[in-house]
Parts: sequence; structure tokens; C-alpha cells
Amino acid sequence: MAKWVRSWLAVAGLIWVALGWAQLPPQASASTPQVHVPGEVTFCVDPDWPPFEQIDAQGQHVGIAADLLKLVAHRSGMNLQLVPTQNWDDSIAASQAGRCQVLSFLNQSPKRDAWLVFTDPVLVDENVVITREEHPFVPDLAGLSNEILVLPKGTSVEERLRRDFPNLKIVLVDSEAQAFKMVSERQADLTMRSLIVAADTIKRQGWFNLKIAGQVPGYGNRLRIGVLKSQAALRDRLNQGVASISAIERQKIIDQHVAIQMVTAVDYTLIGWLAAMLAAVLLTSVYWISRLRRVNAQLKVLSTHDALTGLRNRSGFDALYENELERSRRQQQALSVVLLDIDFFKRINDGHGHPVGDRVLQEVAYLLKQGARTIDHVIRWGGEEFLLLCPSTSTEQAQALAERMLQATRQHDFGLGQPVTLSAGVATLELHDAPGQMFEAVDAALYQAKTQGRNRVVLAQVAKDA
Ligand code: GH3
Ligand code: MG
Ligand code: MG
Repeated sequence: MAKWVRSWLAVAGLIWVALGWAQLPPQASASTPQVHVPGEVTFCVDPDWPPFEQIDAQGQHVGIAADLLKLVAHRSGMNLQLVPTQNWDDSIAASQAGRCQVLSFLNQSPKRDAWLVFTDPVLVDENVVITREEHPFVPDLAGLSNEILVLPKGTSVEERLRRDFPNLKIVLVDSEAQAFKMVSERQADLTMRSLIVAADTIKRQGWFNLKIAGQVPGYGNRLRIGVLKSQAALRDRLNQGVASISAIERQKIIDQHVAIQMVTAVDYTLIGWLAAMLAAVLLTSVYWISRLRRVNAQLKVLSTHDALTGLRNRSGFDALYENELERSRRQQQALSVVLLDIDFFKRINDGHGHPVGDRVLQEVAYLLKQGARTIDHVIRWGGEEFLLLCPSTSTEQAQALAERMLQATRQHDFGLGQPVTLSAGVATLELHDAPGQMFEAVDAALYQAKTQGRNRVVLAQVAKDA
């Protein structure tokens, strides 16, 4: 296979990985009967939101939303008539003035609920934070100050961000592309857009100094069809069409608009021209692949680390544990774990509020990180539980480490007017022990530490292989 073909396949593969994030709503059966509605239904769209939707040079509604809407209209027996607009703001105004009965593809929001009712989601995908490459990761938008976030006008993300993060300076522009351009050209620090749109726009416009720097929980896009409130029956008919779309049909539509097309035939009369084109494609592909690789590596970090504390989470732990287990067997050394749980943490949340509880979790994570040796791994195991994975460590050494962690936490001033204490279980996997039992044993030891009065370390016994 030629090198450039392999490059394109790799590019297509990475796009596919990025799109793996797009989740689809649950499916109903495809056998919904067709309902006939006489007359035409008018609709407005975002004329500049590729690859979701656009009005092309011929005045046609094209893109993922256009194909989904056509399918929904066909399945609900409706005839749709596009009311052209200049931009998304115009479309919103036209909808509010009743000039279009339907808005093609949008999130539900309290403002929009004032004049619209919505179908079930037609497509669900993630919103991600996009910055320039040099910008640090954004684990939490609340932590940013004096940064400019740019958004296209009239989005529901704007409504939600203004409500949830008053610390952000929000600047509005006319189009999706302008928002990305402003970040790329340093006129703004970040934007928050759909993952599908981001992957497509960064690729098409070649804005390789942009990266995906974070994801804010609860900020997914659940894109629906909006219908004037006075026409709920129309919404119900459209909903039948929405329910009839299968996961395969939906994915096929997304792929048609986002997947990379490969050239399959060669016109020999154009070989010279093609050679030049291929050289250009190869160069840009190599550049683009390396950038996308980096974005994907960053996405991996996000999925394996806890946003609140920055520690590895449980999915991050799994691969790590496999390696350490393998290594301890190879080197014939003991492997220990310490499971720590904050005592009476619920009282801290109840007495001081959840944000203070979050801060305590961050400070405990910091103390554990500081107190651990360089060979140890600190993991956020669950809500207020942390695990230390300690390679080449005997029970006595792990016990001493656990005692140090308890003492450091006990002596730390959390600003609560009282100390915070931890309980801990310690278990060690000696050579020839069964690995799964170490976790049961450490759980049981922690439970004992709790029942014996908390603020203490208890050692576990690991059962031997039969
Ligand atoms: P015990 O000493 O027996 O461990 O008591 P506890 O209160 O620490 O344990 P319990 O399991 O009753 O409560 C744990 C609480 O931790 C309940 C849950 O709401 C809270 N929690 C879990 N994750 C988070 C988080 O990310 N932030 C905050 N603020 N609280 C959390
Ligand atoms: Mg607890
Ligand atoms: Mg607990």
C-alpha cells in the first residue's frame, strides 16, 4: 500500500476515534407508520454550522442535520419548506416571529422553552473546550480568571456558561468559524464547541495551533428539533420520525459528512497534477496526523485522570496495575496497597457545603502526593477514598507510609476549625499470592479501621493460593 494511502487511513482512523465520543440516543423500532400531514411546514436553520448544517451556494440546506431532518420529515410524512436566513440570530428571530414553524437542530434551554417545544434528541455529542496549544489543560472553567471565551451568537452553551461561570468574559461572534479563528489568532483564549464540529473545523481550516483542552461534565449537546409552542401536535409527529431513525442510519449520515474520502481511480492524463497534489497532501497529512495524535493523547489523559484532584482515576489505575503486578512478579518483590478513606466526610459536606468538601478532597490528594515516595502511585479510588499502589514495598514499609499519611493529614490545617482524619487498610501481595484477594483484604482492613474507631491503620491478611 502506498505511503500516502496509509497516511490517509491513519487520518481517517483518528477522526473515527474522535467521533467515537459522539454518543447516540437510544433507538426505537424503525417500523413507525408514516403519517400524512397536508401542506408545507416552514423551517429555519443555522446557515453556517458545518458539518452539522449550512445553506450552500445553491440555497440548499446541507449537512448532518439536513440529512437527519429530511429523514425525519419523510418518515413523518411532511413536506418541509426552508425559510432562508443570513445567520443563526436571524433564524432565532424568524422563529420567535412565527415566520418558521420549525428550527432544525438545537439544544433545549430555559430561554428557548419560552416559545418552543422540542422533539427527543436527534443526535447527542460532547462539547469540548478548545484553546491554543500552549494553554494549560482546563480541568474546571471556574478556575479561570480574566480569560476571554468566544462563542457564536445565540447558542445554548452561552446561556449555560453565563449561568454557571460568571467568572468568564464571553465575547460573541457571528459564526462558528470566526470563534475558532479568534482563538487561533490570539484574540480570545478559548471557545467551547461540539467535538464533531471542532474535529471537522480544525481539519478543514488547518488551525493546527488549536487543541482540545478539557471537557466540562454536563455540557453535552442533545440536539433536537424545535417547534413553535402553539404547534405541539407538529412536534409529536416529528417525534415519530425521530424515533424511527436507527443508530446505523444516524452513524452513516455522520460518516458521510465527516469521514475522509479516498481517491479510488486515477486519471492518467492528470498524472503530473496529481503527483503535485499528492506531495502537498502527504505533507499536510503528516503534519496533521502528528497534531491529531497529540490531541488524542490529551483526550486519553482526560479519561484516565480525575478532574477534581488531577490524580489517576480507576480507569487510569487498571493499566498501571497490570504493569506493576507483572514487574513485581518478574523482580520477585512484594507489592503493597494502602486504601485510605476520609473519616466522617459527609459531615464536612453537610456542615460547610459541597465546594468546601471538594477543596478538602483536593488538599488531601495534595498531601498524599507530597507524602508518597517517587515509586508510589496515588489514585482517586472513589468519592473520598484514595489508593496508594506501592511497588517493591513490604507490609511494614507500607504500614509506616500509611501512618505518615494519617499524621500529615491530621496535622494539616484545612481551615475547618477542626482536624480531618483518615482511616487506612494495608495489604501486601507476596510472591505466589492471588492478586484479586489483595483488594478484598484491603477493603476488609479499612472496614475494621472504621469499626475500631477510625483515625488508624489496620493490616490485612492476604489469603494464599490453594
Ligand atoms: P466514614 O467515616 O464512615 O467514611 O463516613 P463518611 O461520611 O466519610 O462516609 P459516607 O460514605 O457516609 O459519605 C461519603 C460522602 O462523600 C458522601 C458523598 O456525597 C461525598 N462525596 C463523594 N464524592 C464527592 C466529591 O467529589 N465531592 C464532595 N464534596 N463530596 C463527595
Ligand atoms: Mg469516609
Ligand atoms: Mg467511603
